[in-house]
Amino acid sequence: MDLYRNIPRKDKLLSLFNDDYAKTILNYAIDQELSNLRKLIADNKIHKIDEQLLIKNIDKRYNELISGSLKRVVNATGIVLHTNLGRAPLSEDFIHNIKDIVSRYSNLEYDLEKGVRGERYHHVVEYLKIITNCEDALVVNNNAAAVFLINNTFNKGKKVIISRGELVEIGGSFRIPEVIANSGAILKEVGTTNKTKISDYENAIDEDTTMIIKIHKSNYAIIGFTDEVPYREIPKIAQKFGLLSYCDLGSGSIIPGIGCNEPTLSEIYNYGYDLVSCSGDKLFGSVQAGIIIGKKKLIEKLKKNQLLRMLRVDKITLSLLQETLKAYLTDSYNNIRSVNLLGTPLTDLLKKAKKLKRILNRHLSDYFDFETKEITSYTGGGSCPMHEIKSYAVICKSKKIDINKIENFLRKYHIPVIIRLVDNKIVLDVRTIFEDEFVLIKDALVWATNQLS
Ligand SMILES: *Cc1c(COP(=O)(O)O)cnc(C)c1O
Repeated sequence: MDLYRNIPRKDKLLSLFNDDYAKTILNYAIDQELSNLRKLIADNKIHKIDEQLLIKNIDKRYNELISGSLKRVVNATGIVLHTNLGRAPLSEDFIHNIKDIVSRYSNLEYDLEKGVRGERYHHVVEYLKIITNCEDALVVNNNAAAVFLINNTFNKGKKVIISRGELVEIGGSFRIPEVIANSGAILKEVGTTNKTKISDYENAIDEDTTMIIKIHKSNYAIIGFTDEVPYREIPKIAQKFGLLSYCDLGSGSIIPGIGCNEPTLSEIYNYGYDLVSCSGDKLFGSVQAGIIIGKKKLIEKLKKNQLLRMLRVDKITLSLLQETLKAYLTDSYNNIRSVNLLGTPLTDLLKKAKKLKRILNRHLSDYFDFETKEITSYTGGGSCPMHEIKSYAVICKSKKIDINKIENFLRKYHIPVIIRLVDNKIVLDVRTIFEDEFVLIKDALVWATNQLS
C-alpha cells in the first residue's frame, strides 16, 4: 500500500520536462507510465519506486510517440511485395512529380476544358486503355473492394459460379466466399479442389445465374492430378449462355517475363472478359488500389452504385497511379522499383552480395562468419505462389551471441532491419536491399552486437 503513496504526483512529473515537450503527448506518456507502474505494484513485481527509471521511461515513451510509429524499414527478406512491409516501394521521382498536385489544389474532379465538374477516374483511364485496350476503367481502394463492388452491382440476389479450386483466402482476412456472401451474391461452387471442367460450369448455369468468375491463384498452387479451365475459355462459356465473365486477377503479370510466366493483364482482358480487376500494388508495383477494367456500359453501372462513394480513392492514390502507368507506357521501368527488383539479374545480385559481405566483414568479423550464397526467394504479396526466383544472400553466422537476440535488436534499430532466420543464421537477401542501405545494415548490426556484449 505504501508503494502506491510513493508514486510521484503527475504535476510534479510534468514540471520536470521543459517547454520543448508537446504537452498533450507528454501528458499521455506520463499517464501510460503511471498506470504501468500501478500495475507493477499490483502484481507485486516491484518493491520500491525508482523515480529516475520512471522519468527515463516517460521520456522514452514520449520520444516513441513524437517520432510516429509508421516508419521506414530495411527489407532484407527478399520478398519483393511483402504485404507486412508496405508491398511496393515507389520511385522518389513519383513523389517529386506529384508534389504540386497534392500540396496545392488540383483538377481532381474538375473538367478544365468545359469548366464543369469532372471525373476523378478520368486521370488514369486513358493510360489503362492504352495498356490493356479496355473500353473504360475505374479505381477503388483495393482489389478486395473491386471484388465486392462488382458482385454487389451485378450479382446481388443472383448466382455466381466459381471453381472450387479457386476459392482463395488472401492474407488471412480476405476470403473470396465471404466477400461474395457479404456483397449479397450467391456463390455456386463447381468442380472439385483439383479438377474443374468446362462441363462443370455449364451444368451449374440456371436462370438465376449472372456471372462466371475466374480467380487468380495468387498465393497457392494445386499440383499433381489437376485440371482447370484456362483463362481464355471462361469468357466463351459465359458468352454462350449470355452471362457476364469477370476475372479477379489480383496479382500476376504485367510485363511478359517479369514476375510469373502467366498471361499478362492485357492478354487476359483480351480473351474477352467483360471485367477484370487487379491490385494496384501487387500487379503494377504502384500504390494500394483496386483497378477495374472492362466494358464501358458495365463500368458505367459500377459508377452508379452508391458503394463507390465509400470505396473511391483520393488524389494521392490517383496521382501516384498516374505516374506509375506513365512509367509503363514510356518504358521507364527503372522507376517501377518492384519490377526492377524482380528483374535484377543473378549476376548483379551476386555482385551486390559480395559488396555487402565486404562491408560487414570489415566491421563485424569478431562477431560473425559471413558467406555469400545462392538462395531462393519469392515475389511475395500473394503474387506468384510457385514462382521461386533465385537470389543471393549474405549469410551471417553468429560466433558468440544468441542469434534470436540479435534479430530482436535489429527490429528495434532506429531504422529497423527485417531479416529472415534460417538454421540459426541471419539471411540477408540482397534482392530487396537497396545499395544505399548496406552501411545502414552494418551500423544496425554493430549497434545490436554492442547492446548484447
Ligand atoms: C491480392 C488479391 C486480392 C485482394 O487484393 P488487395 O489489393 O490486397 O485488396 C483479391 N483477389 C486476388 C486473386 C488477389 O490476389
